Amino acid sequence: MNINNIYIQDIKELCGNTLSISILRADLIDPVVSGNKWFKLQFYVRDAIEAGKTTLATFGGPYSNHIVATAKYGATMGLQTVGFIRGEKPTYLSPTLTDATENGMTLHFVSREDFDQTEKIISHNQDPSWAWIPEGGYGIQGAEGARTLLTIKDTHAFDTIICAVGTGTMMAGLIKAAAPHQKIIGISVLKNNLSIDAEIKALLTSKESKKNFEIIHGYDFGGYAKHTPALIKYMNDTYKNLELPLDFVYTAKLMYAAEDLASKGKFEPASKILLIHSGGLQGNRSFKKGTLLF
Ligand SMILES: *Cc1c(COP(=O)(O)O)cnc(C)c1O
Repeated sequence: MNINNIYIQDIKELCGNTLSISILRADLIDPVVSGNKWFKLQFYVRDAIEAGKTTLATFGGPYSNHIVATAKYGATMGLQTVGFIRGEKPTYLSPTLTDATENGMTLHFVSREDFDQTEKIISHNQDPSWAWIPEGGYGIQGAEGARTLLTIKDTHAFDTIICAVGTGTMMAGLIKAAAPHQKIIGISVLKNNLSIDAEIKALLTSKESKKNFEIIHGYDFGGYAKHTPALIKYMNDTYKNLELPLDFVYTAKLMYAAEDLASKGKFEPASKILLIHSGGLQGNRSFKKGTLLF
């Protein structure tokens, strides 16, 4: 894991060289621990260690970037990790869960029904040495961690910063970090997830809630982790044209949306746009070999 690998890649070609557009390559910190999950975890991990906890416990699906990031981050910090995984135990573990166990994570499979009752899981697994981290790292510590994404490189010159939105934790962090001349735009990757606005605001102070931000819906390609042949083609074309690998759950939809919005005149010609490559590339291992060029 190395945050010094992060750089800002110029991708002017994306919009036919008509706009100044770049991407923060936070995916490059590690091939497995995807960009934003490490950022969101850092203060949960710090607080756990300060409180004398020895185990990180959290939740996620079988391809979860958050699960594998928690496993690997915990291992590097000398902490044990426990993952509660949505769904019955499969015959073969996904590559994500294999990585998680190789990094020492203990997995517990829970039915979809029980998985939705997080409080019950926590109360049935009371252990004073465990620190619980919400699914996806959603919470104030997660947002404070994501805030630091904009401080690794000098991002002051950008006036428009665009990211993918799942739980909204990363977007909340970027809003916290934004300077007065900067607008944060979030592309929701869930279908009609209209409660996201309130979930993001719950992580902001009332002053931060008045900052300039906007959540855009309609680029979910059918819903969370859904994809279409057009999206796959878009990912392969982007890789060919810009040498930029994207993940199908978040960053491909982000980039597609940015390009589409640009073509519809959403941005001022003089604006300087920064996309956040939040990582997640390990999730592409759910595809059959040969689907993607990378
Ligand atoms: C989890 C994730 C997101 C979404 O972050 P939230 O803080 O949940 O909104 C975006 N991109 C990637 C690659 C992710 O893994």
